[in-house]
Amino acid sequence: MNNLKLVAARPSGERTIVDVLGLRVGEGLCVIAGPCAVESEDQTIRTAVAVKAAGAKMLRGGAFKPRTSPYAFQGMGLKALKILALARRETGLPIVTEVIDTRDVSWVGEYADVLQIGARNMQNFSLLREAGKSGKPILLKRGMYSTIEEWLNCAEYILAEGNDKVILCERGIRTFETYTRNTLDLSSICAVRKETHLPIFVDPSHGTGILSMIEPMSLAAVMAGAQGLEIEVHISPSSALSDKDQQLTPKEFALLMRKLNRLHEFLPELAAMKGEEP
Ligand code: PEP
Ligand code: MN
Repeated sequence: MNNLKLVAARPSGERTIVDVLGLRVGEGLCVIAGPCAVESEDQTIRTAVAVKAAGAKMLRGGAFKPRTSPYAFQGMGLKALKILALARRETGLPIVTEVIDTRDVSWVGEYADVLQIGARNMQNFSLLREAGKSGKPILLKRGMYSTIEEWLNCAEYILAEGNDKVILCERGIRTFETYTRNTLDLSSICAVRKETHLPIFVDPSHGTGILSMIEPMSLAAVMAGAQGLEIEVHISPSSALSDKDQQLTPKEFALLMRKLNRLHEFLPELAAMKGEEP
């Protein structure tokens, strides 16, 4: 990938750590959890308190939802951002929220600690430039129709504006397979780790759209080298206004966190294993 300059892996092998309110993303395992969308103060605060107790490091929640249908729930906008700010005050968790419009980057950045650029906007080059100029940490999701090289070039747009606080997030791509919502490309973790110095996360919620696959894909992602995960959690998934079929309950999330932490403890031992003489 010789067109990459700023995001290309460094010869020294040094990896970027993204600082989010003192949290060092890229070091240890960082799980972002929370509802697909902010629906009310009660729903958001209760979810935030639960995911924090389970070990999540950041809170996600959509204020602007990029929906397939213009008639579907579009998010609560400013009201949602104010609720997220309350949740941060309550739990101390940094806020991750999507920005979908170039005109909103600077004011949404006053509420968010990490600006998410979603799959549908991955190649919105004006949005990428604006995100770069904001200087805020950016979670850049992989476009559902994008190659790894196109994705990394989008990160390059942000770094070219002087902002190197970029976290990449694999969230599945469209293939001929229709069993899952998307085909979660876990091999991209290895490619990204080889080609860039930026941290790589995985979103198994949108990546599969299937509740029972979230745990195995999360564990597999960490095993393959992902430095974090983004997982949808809702206090009452069946009544969610968006993505009700893929949101974990706080209880399911807590069990997943216990398994993830156990696996993460075990990784250095695997990494240190050496081949033995026959
Ligand atoms: C999301 O994380 O809320 C989202 C819409 O994901 P994606 O952009 O990956 O579809
Ligand atoms: Mn969602």
